Amino acid sequence: MGHKNLVGLLPADLLPFIRKVGESPYRAEQITRWIYQHQASSFEEMKNLPIAFRENLAGEYLIGQERLLTQQRSQDGATKYLFELKDRKAVECVLIPHRKRMTVCLSSQVGCPVGCPFCATGLSGFQRNLDFSEIVEQAWRVGQETSQKINNLVFMGMGEPLLNYEQLTRALKVFQSPHGFGIGVRHITISTVGIPEKIIQLANEWPQINLALSLHAPNNDLRNRLVPLNQAFPIPLLLRAVDESIKKTGRRVTLEYALWKDINDQREYAYELISLLRGRLIHVNLIPGNPVLRSSFIPSSGQRVMTFARILEENKIPVTIRQSRGQDIEAACGELYATQKKERGGSQ
Ligand code: SF4
Repeated sequence: MGHKNLVGLLPADLLPFIRKVGESPYRAEQITRWIYQHQASSFEEMKNLPIAFRENLAGEYLIGQERLLTQQRSQDGATKYLFELKDRKAVECVLIPHRKRMTVCLSSQVGCPVGCPFCATGLSGFQRNLDFSEIVEQAWRVGQETSQKINNLVFMGMGEPLLNYEQLTRALKVFQSPHGFGIGVRHITISTVGIPEKIIQLANEWPQINLALSLHAPNNDLRNRLVPLNQAFPIPLLLRAVDESIKKTGRRVTLEYALWKDINDQREYAYELISLLRGRLIHVNLIPGNPVLRSSFIPSSGQRVMTFARILEENKIPVTIRQSRGQDIEAACGELYATQKKERGGSQ
C-alpha cells in the first residue's frame, strides 16, 4: 500500500498509527498543528517530534500529493492555481483576496457531470469525484504558496459539490476543526445547482453553512436549457427544499443568477423571478456572465444587468451584483478548466 496523505487528516485519524508505534496520543495534535498551522511540507521541520518517530511517520505518510503546474495572477489580485493530482488529472482553484479576507474558490470534482452550456467545466465533461484530501489540499497548498491564513471558502470551482456529498463533508470537518483550518462554518459557502435531498441533509448536518443556489432562470422551460439537471429537479422541488432549509437553519439563502444576453436577462424574467421569490428569506446575487470558449452564450451588457437589478430592488427583493474577479486569467465564474486544456495540450 502506498503512503497516506497527512493533508486532510485530523488527530483522531492518526491515533491508530500512533498507538501502533507506541507513542503518546498528544503527538497526533502536534502533527496536525505542523500541517495546518505551520504548513510544514517536510517531516524534518517537525522539530518537537523525536527523530525515530519522524522516521516512522515518513514510512507511512507523505505531506501533500498535488503538484502545482501553473499559477496565474490576475490584474485584480485573484490567482488561479492548476494542480496535478496523483492520477495525473488536474484541478483548478482560485485565491480571491479582499482586505483581510482570503477566500479560496475550491473544486469538488474533476470536470462536472451537470453540463451547463455556459460553463467551461460543464462543457469539458466529467472525469471523477475528488476525495476529501484532494479538496482540502487545494486550500492547504494555496495557504502554503502565499504564506497566508485562508479564512473563507466558497465551493464554486469545478464540479457540483452536492453530487460528492460524503467527501465534501469530510473535507468540511477539516476546514472547520480547530485542529484543522479553524475556519468558522459561517465563512464557508456551498454553491449548488440544487439536489433537493442533499440541500435538506446539509441544512440538518451543517445548519450554519451558507447555501447558494444557482437558479439562473425563473421557469422550468428556460432553466432546462441552462441547467440540464433541472429536468430531474425542477424549480418547485428546489424551492421546497430551500424553504425547508431556511426553516431548519433560519438562515438566508443566496440565489445566484448569471445573466446572458437575450437568454435570461429580459425584463419579463426579472418580474417572473420576483413572483417566484416574494416572501422568501432570499438574497439574489446577479452574476454578469463571463465569456467561455466553445460556448455561444454572450454576457449581458452592464446596462441590462443594472436594469435587471433595479427591477428586483424596486420590488423589494434584496439584490447585489457580483463583482467579477480573475476574468483576464479565465478564473471567473464558469471559466475554470481552460488552463488545464491549454497547459497540457488538451490531453484530458
Ligand atoms: S455551472 Fe456548476 S453545475 Fe453547471 S456545469 Fe459548471 S460546474 Fe457544473
